[in-house]
Amino acid sequence: MNLNNPEAVKIDAAQWFAEHWDPDMPLGVWWQLLADAGWAFPSWPEGFGGRGLSSGPTKAAIQARREAGAFGPPNGVATFLAAPTIMHYGTQQQQAKYLPRIVNGQDIWCQLFSEPGAGSDMAGLSTKAIRDGEEWVVNGQKVWNSGAQWAKYGILIARTDPEKPKHRGITYFLIDMEQEGVDVRPLREMTGDAAFNEVFLNDARIAEDDRLGDLGDGWRVAMTTLSHERDPDNAGMGETAAFGAVDLDMSVRDHSTSISSKNDGFSLALSGGVSKVLDDVTSQFDAATDPGTRQRLARILEMRRSARWSGMRAAAKIKAGGQPGPEVSTLKLLGSDMGREIRDVGLEAMGPYGMLYGEDAPTDGLFHAYSMFTPAQSIAGGSDEVQRNIVGERVLGLPREPGEKEQRELPWSDLPRS
Ligand SMILES: Cc1cc2nc3c(=O)[nH]c(=O)nc-3n(C[C@H](O)[C@H](O)[C@H](O)COP(=O)(O)OP(=O)(O)OC[C@H]3O[C@@H](n4cnc5c(N)ncnc54)[C@H](O)[C@@H]3O)c2cc1C
Repeated sequence: MNLNNPEAVKIDAAQWFAEHWDPDMPLGVWWQLLADAGWAFPSWPEGFGGRGLSSGPTKAAIQARREAGAFGPPNGVATFLAAPTIMHYGTQQQQAKYLPRIVNGQDIWCQLFSEPGAGSDMAGLSTKAIRDGEEWVVNGQKVWNSGAQWAKYGILIARTDPEKPKHRGITYFLIDMEQEGVDVRPLREMTGDAAFNEVFLNDARIAEDDRLGDLGDGWRVAMTTLSHERDPDNAGMGETAAFGAVDLDMSVRDHSTSISSKNDGFSLALSGGVSKVLDDVTSQFDAATDPGTRQRLARILEMRRSARWSGMRAAAKIKAGGQPGPEVSTLKLLGSDMGREIRDVGLEAMGPYGMLYGEDAPTDGLFHAYSMFTPAQSIAGGSDEVQRNIVGERVLGLPREPGEKEQRELPWSDLPRS
């Protein structure tokens, strides 16, 4: 097979799905099969659930899977943040230990970056890791950590040298969440769900072997993680639950039914499944015949295409071994805008029915759940204001914020903190 030819890849993938796809298979068995065949994440390296395909052939393979009606690979922090970062910076031992259990959905991961005093200013974080022989002892508090209550592992950034300037004294770790020193407390959101958490680290232990990247280089490693948040070649997007514990013994059929009936705006926003729900709303309320609504639907389509194009450029850069630049921030801003527009068009189409909540509401309450989640989209992964700062400073060449340059040079321990 010619790996650069999308048509050839599509034929090969279609044949494989025709032979192997069976919705009555247990989910864990299906995910293992997908990973072993390299069709789970076609752009990832061979041996790690992929075939090392470039963007065009990857899309062709995903298209073949969708046309076969086959269920997608696991999805969540493990696949779209942890795995690409481990592939980029991990030692062979780390890759062999963690990646196989990510691609077959065995392990759920969470992201332990934000802190009560360090969200937008993430480099100001206070959680400390102190070396103790062949281990690190970690103390501090993280917050807004999605899926931490189900996670087996976390990607963590912690301060290892308070005397260095704030960006340079941080190190990146892979932490076992199932240990005594890790206390996870779910937080209830306005959506009614409790998808994210506070995480308290009290003398939690991490082996030196689980340091990812060089000592003090955690900021650079964390930037790699963040740049992957919107990689469009992430084949899991679209079908599977973004967060939550999964029963790997359940049949794929039962699992996918339980997801589609899940009243969870977070999963819907991350999976892209909201387009289908918006279609349901506009057709149920006959809204697409209204010229104003049609215009706005066309705008949403346009935004989606622009986002896809911008994301493809970022992905191409990553594949070429580089780091995506500020286009990721424009993509993130587009995502926030698109979310708000989808919410407003859908709620307007529903009229008074848009006020209903829960399973009695149109689309079984799914659209309402999404609309309640929409504000979070412009905060998670870095707020809109912060993305605009990045575009202003790094694209347009505007001056940095007053005092920022000086702060970048001072030891973290000398910086003012609330
Ligand atoms: C749904 C959801 C899921 C999340 N999941 C995770 C997760 O899994 N792991 C994790 O680590 N974190 C997670 N987060 C946290 C997220 O990364 C932070 O909320 C975000 O970075 C903003 O930080 P903050 O909440 O501390 O707000 P702050 O930084 O306190 O900001 C408050 C306000 O001030 C504005 N602001 C701050 N600094 C500037 C500036 N320099 N210029 C202009 N305006 C500024 C912000 O835009 C915002 O409007 C999640 C958040 C959400 C909403």
